[in-house]
Amino acid sequence: MGLKLFNTLARSVQEFAPLDPPKVGMYCCGPTVYDFAHIGNWRTFVFTDLVRRYLEFKGYAVTHVMNITDIEDKIIKRVRQNKTTLPEFTGKFEIAFFEDLKTLNCLSPHQTPRATEHITEIISLIQKLIARGIAYQSADGSVYFSIEKYRGGGYNYGQLLKLNFDEMRPGERVKSDEYAKESIADFALWKARAPDDGDIFWPSPFGEGRPGWHIECSAMSMKILGASFDLHLGGEDLIFPHHEDEIAQSEGATQKTFVKYWLHGAHLLVEGKKMSKSLGNFFTLRDLLAKGFTGREVRYLLLTAHYRETFNFTLEGLNGAKTALARIDECVAKLRDRAADMLSLEKKPGQHSAVDLLPSFTAALDEDLNISGACGAVFEWIREVNRRLAEHSLSPTAAETALIEWEKTDSVLGIGAKSETEIPADISALAEARAAAKKAKDFKRSDEIRDELKSKGWVVEDSPKGFKLKNN
Ligand code: AMP
Ligand code: ZN
Repeated sequence: MGLKLFNTLARSVQEFAPLDPPKVGMYCCGPTVYDFAHIGNWRTFVFTDLVRRYLEFKGYAVTHVMNITDIEDKIIKRVRQNKTTLPEFTGKFEIAFFEDLKTLNCLSPHQTPRATEHITEIISLIQKLIARGIAYQSADGSVYFSIEKYRGGGYNYGQLLKLNFDEMRPGERVKSDEYAKESIADFALWKARAPDDGDIFWPSPFGEGRPGWHIECSAMSMKILGASFDLHLGGEDLIFPHHEDEIAQSEGATQKTFVKYWLHGAHLLVEGKKMSKSLGNFFTLRDLLAKGFTGREVRYLLLTAHYRETFNFTLEGLNGAKTALARIDECVAKLRDRAADMLSLEKKPGQHSAVDLLPSFTAALDEDLNISGACGAVFEWIREVNRRLAEHSLSPTAAETALIEWEKTDSVLGIGAKSETEIPADISALAEARAAAKKAKDFKRSDEIRDELKSKGWVVEDSPKGFKLKNN
C-alpha cells in the first residue's frame, strides 16, 4: 500500500510519489546553534527522523539533508553579549546538538551543511535574483527580495499560506530574519555590514555583509538536492515567512517547482503552555537527563504523538513512556528466551503460526504517519505474544519470526529494545571456556573464570539448557 502524507502546499493528504523513485531528496531545516536545543525542537527532529526511517523501511533511497544555521540575527546578538567569536560560540552548541541527536537515537542526516560554508552559493543565488530583476540593493547596501516584482512575473507568493495582499504596501522592507505573518514585505537576502555585527561579515559583489536566514536554506538545499526535490520539513512556525520565502527565492531563481511535498510538525507545549524560560517550563534534553530520564524515554514520548497535533509534554507522560518501554522490553526478552529454547519438547497445535505485526503497523503509518494506530498495533501484538507464551503455544521458530518482525518494526521506531545480545566477544569466549571447563569437571578452572567474569561485571547463570550471561 502507498504512503499518504499531509502536504501543506496542497492543504490535504496526498499519495507520496517522489520525483525520481526510489530516490527521495529530503531537506529538514536544522538547528540555529545559539543555545542547547529544547524539547520542542526535539519533537520536530524526532518527527523528521520518523519520516526518514519510514521512507527507508518502505525501500526508498533517501538523501537526508539537515542544515546548521550558524549565522543569523540571534546568533550575532549572543556572540556580542558573550564577547566571544562566531566559530567558538556556534561550535559548542553544534557539538551538543549532535550529542543530543545520538542520545535520542535519531539517524545522522547524510549531509549537514553549515551556512557559513556556503557563502559562495548564497551570493550566486542572490546574483541570479538580481539579474532576473526580482532582487534589488537598497541605499544602505543590503539586498532585498521584491515581492512586487516576483508577483509581477507571474509567480505566486503565498503558496503555503493564504495572504492578504490588499494590506500590502509595495516596497516596504523587513530586515530582521523573523517577522510577523501580516508583514508581506520585501525581505533581506544580504544584510550590509553594521557596527553591531563586529567582525562577522563576508565580502561580496554587493559589499561586505552577511546572508539573511531564508536564503541560506534555499542555497544549501538546492546545491545538494537540486533545483527540485521531494520533501521539505520543519516545525509549523517555519511555514511563514521562512518556507514561503524559500519557495520565492528558489522558484524566482530557477523557474522550477522547488519542493513537491511540504511537511510541518505541530508545536510542543509544556503543561498546556508555550515553553518559556520565565515560566520555568523550559526543558532542554539535558534537563530531562539530569532528572534521571533516558534519551530512549524522551524519544518514545515525542514519537508517539501524531506530528500534526499540538503535543502537551508533561513529566507524567515521561513516566508513562517508561512503563510502555518496560512492557516492550519484557515481551522481547521473553521472545528471546523462547527462541533460544531449542530443547523444548512441547508440541501444541498451531504453535508455529506467526504473530503478525507489520501489516497493521504499516497500514497505520501509511495513513499520514498515524503513530497512535502503529503503537496500538505494537501493543496488540504484545498481548497476543504474551498470551501464546503463557499457554505454551508459540514454538521457538515462531518466536524467532516474531523477533524478526519486531526488529523491522523497530527500524522505524528506533526505540531499540534493550538487547541481551550485545555481549562483547571476549566475555562470551570466557563464558564458553568456563562451560568447557565445567564439562571436563575442572571445577577449579570454571570457578576461576566465573570470578574473572564477575570482576568484569558479568554474572553467569546456569540452567539445564545451558548458561546465560547478565551484565550488572
Ligand atoms: P530553531 O533552532 O529555532 O531554528 O528550530 C529548530 C526546529 O525546531 C524548527 O523546525 C522549528 O520549527 C522547531 N521548533 C521550535 N520550537 C518548537 C516547539 N515548541 N515545538 C516543536 N517544534 C519547534
Ligand atoms: Zn530553513
